Amino acid sequence: RAKQAGRNRCHFYRRDMNEQAVRRLEMEAALREALDRGDFTLHYQPQIRLETQRLHRVEALIRWTHARWGAVSPMEFIPLAEECGLVGQIDRWVLENAVAQLARWRADGLVVPGMAVNLSPERFAHGDLVEQVRHVLAVARVPPGDLTLEITERLMMIEEVSVHDTLDALSDLGVTLSIDDFGTGYSSLSYLKRFPVGELKIDRSFVKELDIDAANRPLVRAMIQIGQSLGLTVIAEGVERETQSRMLKADGCCMGQGYHYARPMPPDAFADWLHAWNARVAPDQTGCGEPE
Ligand code: C2E
Ligand code: MG
Ligand code: MG
Ligand code: MG
Repeated sequence: RAKQAGRNRCHFYRRDMNEQAVRRLEMEAALREALDRGDFTLHYQPQIRLETQRLHRVEALIRWTHARWGAVSPMEFIPLAEECGLVGQIDRWVLENAVAQLARWRADGLVVPGMAVNLSPERFAHGDLVEQVRHVLAVARVPPGDLTLEITERLMMIEEVSVHDTLDALSDLGVTLSIDDFGTGYSSLSYLKRFPVGELKIDRSFVKELDIDAANRPLVRAMIQIGQSLGLTVIAEGVERETQSRMLKADGCCMGQGYHYARPMPPDAFADWLHAWNARVAPDQTGCGEPE
């Protein structure tokens, strides 16, 4: 009987695996198709200066709606795109379109101080990243200082000269490098002194229960202090409540991003949101996190 049950379990397990594998194969094909057909879109989420409540910049977040599956989360398809070698192409598309959108908003008279774009480690393997950044900025007439590239601790652990050189070249160009999901990757902090990082982005998992579970606050405080003592801008992601925003500000965090301010939005909705937001908050002042 035990043997029988074991066999059944194995059978179910295998069928389950097959379903997963089939879904992955289907999704990989669909991703290639979506790239060809230009089926991706970008949503934009504001990053807010906690001191003044003014818009600091926006982060571009990719969206994909599949004809049969509906909206597929980037948490599902970006890791898959990384595995099958497609994420470099996706990130190239995102960079070009996000910077072009920033230029369009500005042409429409909207004051959007900057754009942040996520880059997967794989994008660095393509070799043309610095050239693309330079090109895209020049075409859109966007100053390099208005672009932030969000990278992860995973990238910082790749001991390759080409990665180091690329990071240096990007920094020399004047774009800001931001460590996304800070605190969730590797415990080694030594990359912070070796690489031209300009910003730390405290991961949502620490901010999530900041005002509920007391264990989070010392960690968040420590991360803010690391950033401050190295002269880096610190931004907290996943701010959903006023209480979190107040705690972060009190602890010296400059910037916040999250549903408390706004969800990621399509370009038109963002423009409407910004008009309404600007009407509510005080005029800008130089303060925390302001570029010199
Ligand atoms: P991320 O870069 O850390 O982006 C933050 C994620 O948190 C976004 O999820 C955003 O919608 C979500 N978020 C923002 N505020 C809140 C909040 O207050 N509460 C909660 N619960 N969530 C919040 P999204 O858009 O699903 O993206 C997930 C991840 O997918 C991103 O994490 C990023 O790692 C990746 N991703 C998104 N777009 C791109 C892209 O263009 N290229 C690459 N390589 N990765 C991307
Ligand atoms: Mg990000
Ligand atoms: Mg993040
Ligand atoms: Mg994250």
